Amino acid sequence: MQETYFERALFFSWYCALGDCTFCYMSINGNQKTESNNNPHLARRSFESIFAEAIISKELNWKIEFVSGGYHSYTIDELVFLVKGIFEITGQKQWLNIGHLTKEELKLFLPYSEGYAGTIETVNWELRKKVCPSKHLAPILKAFEHCDELRLKKAITIIIGLGETIDDFKKLHEFIEEHKIDRITFYALNPHPGTPFTSSPEKEYYSQWIQKTREVFPELEIIAGAWLDKAEYYKSILEAGADNFTKLPAIREFNTKKMQEVEKQINLSGKKLMSKLTNLPQLDWNSKVNKLSEKTFPNELKNKIKAKLTSYLKQMDKN
Ligand code: SF4
Repeated sequence: MQETYFERALFFSWYCALGDCTFCYMSINGNQKTESNNNPHLARRSFESIFAEAIISKELNWKIEFVSGGYHSYTIDELVFLVKGIFEITGQKQWLNIGHLTKEELKLFLPYSEGYAGTIETVNWELRKKVCPSKHLAPILKAFEHCDELRLKKAITIIIGLGETIDDFKKLHEFIEEHKIDRITFYALNPHPGTPFTSSPEKEYYSQWIQKTREVFPELEIIAGAWLDKAEYYKSILEAGADNFTKLPAIREFNTKKMQEVEKQINLSGKKLMSKLTNLPQLDWNSKVNKLSEKTFPNELKNKIKAKLTSYLKQMDKN
């Protein structure tokens, strides 16, 4: 039986230097203007909260989809420390979704990184100019060139439901081939109130993109997600050929009825669910922190991680 895993995107900040992708909550009037959203130093999470989430991910058999955020929130040294720490906790080399990095910067992450993710969002290039007016393609393609030179893998993210049609699939086919992409993440558009978008793509149409991609690229790693209110999509996207799934608010909604429904749909797909989304295991969580290396995680940091872990686990247990 083929296995499937939940892929957790690990966000380290909610700062965005662009703020104008038309589908994004950051583009809604006011959001990009709030003091915390507009200030990279206020919009960052603490190291301990990110490390606590990485520990939960490891113990519940979640994979880290990528480490993601506006990198101006941290110095490059802090970011390298963060990625190194997550690597040490999970034993998994990390994918970086942290904006444009120079080759020299990418080199710093090499011991702890699997690859680099470029947020393409749509391959309908005319549409892309409208929905991502400031997120230009050229720097992403430049980063892909650096990846080739450094032998890092390359991933892309694609949102379905922005106004593309299935005829655009041939552009995706060409793009994956031309840039030798190793992994793709599909998202079903989740329309945010205040943006011009009001609906998500139909399950069948969304799954068609995944199915076509799988047919043409049998070896490509495919991750697909849909928001929690679309539990019924999960069976369909896994049957269409996605390896793993993402996008669930798995800590906040751990073990809720909605999450139980997602789990049921995944089981109906015929794949073996390897990640825990319900029923929190009874573990000695503090011992997981204690065994982290002193060098990367001094005692003061360990104590802070334990406090964060306790608050996340309390939330998960409450459900
Ligand atoms: S780059 Fe675009 S999609 Fe990403 S956070 Fe900024 S506005 Fe949103």
